[in-house]
Amino acid sequence: MLRLYNALTKSKKLFKPIKAKHVTMYSCGPTVYDHAHIGNLRAYIFADTLQRVLRVIEGYTVDWVMNITDVDDKMIARIQRDYPKEDPNMALGILADKYTDIFVDDIEKVGIHRADIAKLPRATDHIKGMQALITKLLREKIAYESDGSFYFSLDAYKKSGKKYGVLVDLDYQAKARVTDDQDQKEGVADFVLWKAEKKGEPFWDFDYLGKNYPGRPGWHIECSVMSTQYLGQVFDIHTGGVDLKFPHHENEIAQCGGHQANFFVHNEHLQVQSKKMSKSLGNITKLSDITDPLAFRLLCLQAHYRSQMDFSADALQSAHERLNNLRAYADQLVLASEHQLPAVDESGITSQFWQIFSASLEDDLNTSAALAALAAIEGKVFSRQTLELLQKVDAVLGLQLINEVSISSEARATLADYQNAREAKEYVASDKLREELKTKYLLQVSDTPYGPLVHRVRK
Ligand code: AMP
Ligand code: ZN
Repeated sequence: MLRLYNALTKSKKLFKPIKAKHVTMYSCGPTVYDHAHIGNLRAYIFADTLQRVLRVIEGYTVDWVMNITDVDDKMIARIQRDYPKEDPNMALGILADKYTDIFVDDIEKVGIHRADIAKLPRATDHIKGMQALITKLLREKIAYESDGSFYFSLDAYKKSGKKYGVLVDLDYQAKARVTDDQDQKEGVADFVLWKAEKKGEPFWDFDYLGKNYPGRPGWHIECSVMSTQYLGQVFDIHTGGVDLKFPHHENEIAQCGGHQANFFVHNEHLQVQSKKMSKSLGNITKLSDITDPLAFRLLCLQAHYRSQMDFSADALQSAHERLNNLRAYADQLVLASEHQLPAVDESGITSQFWQIFSASLEDDLNTSAALAALAAIEGKVFSRQTLELLQKVDAVLGLQLINEVSISSEARATLADYQNAREAKEYVASDKLREELKTKYLLQVSDTPYGPLVHRVRK
């Protein structure tokens, strides 16, 4: 049974979904004004690993929704720079299309399958839902109007008996008000739900009590609406980076009346020389700068998701080498001849491995312990049972070890000739074929207690 650290209770809790066998999970997604950086990708690799553990180890089906933020201050600044002549609402669409495609490409490269994300809804397709929620909050007098904008009143919320600030233990003194989308981390303040139209910016009409309030939504309201529209209120798990705890997630919860999801799970930051990787600090790396994106995934998995993790070229290179060793092990298991390996690992090490591997992941996703368990069998234990479990390892960790084992049909034919020659003890022929495998197909043969095993030579 999976235990997960829940930011609502600040403790590890046994995870139980609301509905038996089915998990609903929401991840705050990217703002599609530019490329994501690999710090952002750490957040999505974490969420992906969590949904994989829920499916493969726990046996649940998972409904995973991730939003696309396609309207906010950053999006607007970018369309004004890049598409000044376009209609602003249209320009948002053009910009969002471009960077959503790039985002989907990026996540696929780090082993996140688009198909595993049930929905990738866009904020601007949910304006009506946001207006409905804002109207409800206005009717309940939790929200108020000022200069054509609508705000969430923390005092009114508190007076209604609700507690604000559960995730970060806040005791707020709310007198201030903030209109920016994201730069409101210093103080606790009434936050904007709907921003009055500004000249030249995208806007939508909003009819409230017979009067039009043209404008656009605030950042937090979109997640409250999209998460509950697709997953119901309450849903099981909400994820995001630690920086989203406050104010974003606190505000999402407040807009949902105090109870949005049962578990809030946050990943720590990817850092560079002990500073958060972020665009504003100018220390970002994009995925396109990395030659082996899955090595970046492995690097993330080597750290616990709740630990800060330092990124460096050396660390990435070590992860790449470590991944190549795992790939070689997968090659050897997959490319072994049909009768070469025993069906079951009689030593019991393989079954023991799986127990430790799955128990580690069930302990708040201890991926580094799971990888240590894998290291204990890697290159040492060979059986068809081991290969089957390695396929499950792939399904959980998403490192694509088995996928990697694709060799051309000529290489496969030469390998079969080699294996037949070896079995027939025709050593002159087999030595020649072994050399051909190496020079022509970059396939290295190693002699092992299981006979010759073959892996690809990688740089
Ligand atoms: P943003 O586009 O800034 O809203 O970020 C998208 C996701 O990436 C959020 O879950 C953030 O918390 C997360 N994130 C941003 N920077 C980092 C970082 N350096 N390390 C890990 N996660 C991050
Ligand atoms: Zn969100």
